[in-house]
Amino acid sequence: VAERDDDAAELAFLVKRLDRQRRARLAAEAISEHATRALYEQQLHLKTLQAVAVGANESVSLQDAMQTTVDQLCMQWHWPAGHAYYCIGATQLLTLSEVWYLQDSVRFDGVRAAIESIPAAPGTGLAAEALAQRRPVWARDANGAFAPEIALRLREAGIVSAVAVPVVADGTPVAVLEFFAETLPEPEASFAEVLGKIGDLLGTVYMRTRADATMRNSEEQYRLLFETNPNPMWVYDADTLAFIAVNEAAVRQYGFSREEFLRMRLSDIDAGDEGGLHRYRRRDLTVATAEVSAYDLRLPGRHARLAMVVDVGDRRQAEEALRESERRFRDLLETIQLVAVLLDVVGTVTYCNPFLLELTGWDKREVIGRNWFELVYPLGERETARRAFLEKLRRGTIATQEDGHLVTRSGDRRLITWSNTILRSGQGAILGTASIGTDVTDRRRAEEQLQYEAFHDSLTSLPNRALLIDRVVQAMNRARRDPQRGFAVLLLDIDRFKNVNDSLGHATGDLLLVAVGERLMKTVRSNDTVARIGGDEFVVLVDDISGITDATRSAIRILQEISVPFVIEGDEIFASTSIGITSGTADYERPEQILRDADTAMYRAKALGGGRYEIFDAEMRAEVVARLQLETDLRRAIERQEIRVLYQPIVEMATGKVVSFEALARWQHPTRGMVSPAQFIPTAEETGLIVPIDRAVLREACFEASSWNGASVSVNVSSRHFTHGDLVRDVQKALVDASLAPSLLHLEVTESAIMQSPEAAHEIMEQLRATGVHISIDDFGTGYSSLSYLHRFPFDRLKLDQSFIANATMNRKTLAIVRSVMGLASALALDVVAEGIETREQFDFLRDLQCGFGQGYLFSRPVGAEAAAGMLTGGF
Ligand code: C2E
Ligand code: MG
Ligand code: MG
Repeated sequence: VAERDDDAAELAFLVKRLDRQRRARLAAEAISEHATRALYEQQLHLKTLQAVAVGANESVSLQDAMQTTVDQLCMQWHWPAGHAYYCIGATQLLTLSEVWYLQDSVRFDGVRAAIESIPAAPGTGLAAEALAQRRPVWARDANGAFAPEIALRLREAGIVSAVAVPVVADGTPVAVLEFFAETLPEPEASFAEVLGKIGDLLGTVYMRTRADATMRNSEEQYRLLFETNPNPMWVYDADTLAFIAVNEAAVRQYGFSREEFLRMRLSDIDAGDEGGLHRYRRRDLTVATAEVSAYDLRLPGRHARLAMVVDVGDRRQAEEALRESERRFRDLLETIQLVAVLLDVVGTVTYCNPFLLELTGWDKREVIGRNWFELVYPLGERETARRAFLEKLRRGTIATQEDGHLVTRSGDRRLITWSNTILRSGQGAILGTASIGTDVTDRRRAEEQLQYEAFHDSLTSLPNRALLIDRVVQAMNRARRDPQRGFAVLLLDIDRFKNVNDSLGHATGDLLLVAVGERLMKTVRSNDTVARIGGDEFVVLVDDISGITDATRSAIRILQEISVPFVIEGDEIFASTSIGITSGTADYERPEQILRDADTAMYRAKALGGGRYEIFDAEMRAEVVARLQLETDLRRAIERQEIRVLYQPIVEMATGKVVSFEALARWQHPTRGMVSPAQFIPTAEETGLIVPIDRAVLREACFEASSWNGASVSVNVSSRHFTHGDLVRDVQKALVDASLAPSLLHLEVTESAIMQSPEAAHEIMEQLRATGVHISIDDFGTGYSSLSYLHRFPFDRLKLDQSFIANATMNRKTLAIVRSVMGLASALALDVVAEGIETREQFDFLRDLQCGFGQGYLFSRPVGAEAAAGMLTGGF
């Protein structure tokens, strides 16, 4: 068991690592390529929007939804603070809500206090501006946008910009969200659009929850009106005068219990009229004089009256109370936004309220006396509904809450949530039902829309990653129950999609994605799922297959289909795609693992040239595992300081004197011994671990060089420093800590490293030169760049790659190249170091060509620091 746990933990670890790598890859692409970056950000924005939509959907109130949103956005975009205002009415007046997100409450104490000390912001300020413009508004300078005391506190907390987002419900602003940031955000259109959409989303939450609030209120009012009315009220049968219902006040003021009331008739307590007032006998036989207002109620099967009985002990007060109650009662019936209907035991409508008529479009005369089921049920559902109703009445149980459709006069279907009660006579006989319903059609539609948006890609309308994962889980479960019904996942990535975006524009790129989605839909069977899970990545879940050949057949069909040129806005676009296939075997526990393996296979297909498919296999898995293992080991190696530095002398050709040493990294592996850079530098570069490795080598080398009496040291730096880390600061610190003169340090940069991000490299190299260190171009001649391009970079020294040296003496063409490089270098006043001199012959030859410096096994292999120091006194 322990072993299996270990395996699971290991696996979980690997999955996490891979996912992280994948994300890092995405992120790196995003940074280096603007086109990809925009796409990536759009994805991020969509994800945020989705998260907010899901959060909002689950919220029970606007406040709740705003709190969730503020939390999510602050965390997503690293905004340290955010909060919300409510709008008062539809005016520009704002009042503070209880919604706050503060990453650090101590730091933002002052800001919060300042904001809270202004209870209602006037018509100026960022929030008011957002309200007036009905769209997100940025402030790049707190001074202008906020009241002085708030601006002051914001500055103190290190805030440099803010954004306000209005929440608009059905055209009316109801709230404003305000966020504060430590950096200046780019006012990008897509970002503003997302924020705007979030405001709209919250607006729908407001609409939805407000509808709930009215419903609660009307039910509450209803209850208040009868049950908690301070005046006695009763309902009685107009023919027999038997009490049907009495309220609490009647019980209290007349002294009879409810049961006693329901066994009596009105005539039992009647003590005769007097001057337009009624007189009723209490239980203790005293007589109350009351003013009575009564309404006809058509209860199913009988005619009843509802009476409110106001004791006129104090006449004026009584009149007042009566008028008030009447008004409330009338208002309620007229304005209630709920449908109310009473049915008798066979379903005949005996009462309905105005709202029901409004909603259905029927006239009152067309409704009363008609059979409810014939009136509002769709033809095919009538009989079942009627029979269910009768059955429920017979059993005396009727669902208190249920959803049902109602067809209006014009044929619209509305969805109603009903609250039902059974009406009984005083003797317990069933009289019919009373139902109050809320029209939830719009709310339900909005919910469905949100639900849809949360699980579909907005560009192609295909299922998104979330929905795909769900489908994969279903497929996994089914395959587990029934191993005959396997499935496979095909992960597609369009080859060179970036080119399309770059050369034809994003709009065309988007259209191509849509078209690819459509073609995919065409090739798959109806029960397969086609999803878009990222920029140009699609997944086809091929369901219910008997073997892997079913999946490869699908892949071939897809490759063929995609190879037909797309015509987009008149342009013919040739596309191809790389497909990675995994079959859903029993080994998988989680859907992410399947996607991960399909992704690995897809990369293999890409590496083999694209336009093809690859099936994930054990070998690929082993490779992935080995790479991860190396990475883990390497990380540990840095922590345990297993990285050693060897030094190889650089010799002045004319004199044989050692003028410099190149520092070369080695990994002192606990079991594998000395590991050469070729085996770990590529992985270190991929994972970014090269940055701490280079830093360690740099520090060590500077420290050693400080005791060399004027010989300089060369240190290799990876391209990674141009996009990550802080090379300039690291170099300065290493020099200061080792007390080494900057002129004694050479940094070696390869031309391919420069070409990866020429602008960043140029800028950093200029900064380095300003500190006084030298820069060499390493492995010269192995890249594609020309010296005429490279000379714009501030080099002092050129290191001619060893491949030229090895061949130059035998090959005339190489010889010519070496000659011309020498010429160019001298014209540009660059020192030349020939790398890889192994023989006396090579040495003589290069010296004759006026090559200034040399390095190679002929002089010495890379050696430890002590041996290196020893070479300084001798010579070659
Ligand atoms: P490089 O910067 O071009 O270093 C010269 C390489 O040539 C070294 O290999 C050196 O041992 C080898 N060499 C020197 N003389 C001869 C010779 O006569 N014949 C042959 N066949 N080889 C010779 P090494 O130490 O294995 O390093 C390989 C590469 O790894 C380096 O190429 C450099 O690009 C990279 N590297 C090494 N240390 C570091 C480091 O600390 N940071 C970074 N970023 N890269 C490093
Ligand atoms: Mg080097
Ligand atoms: Mg080199």
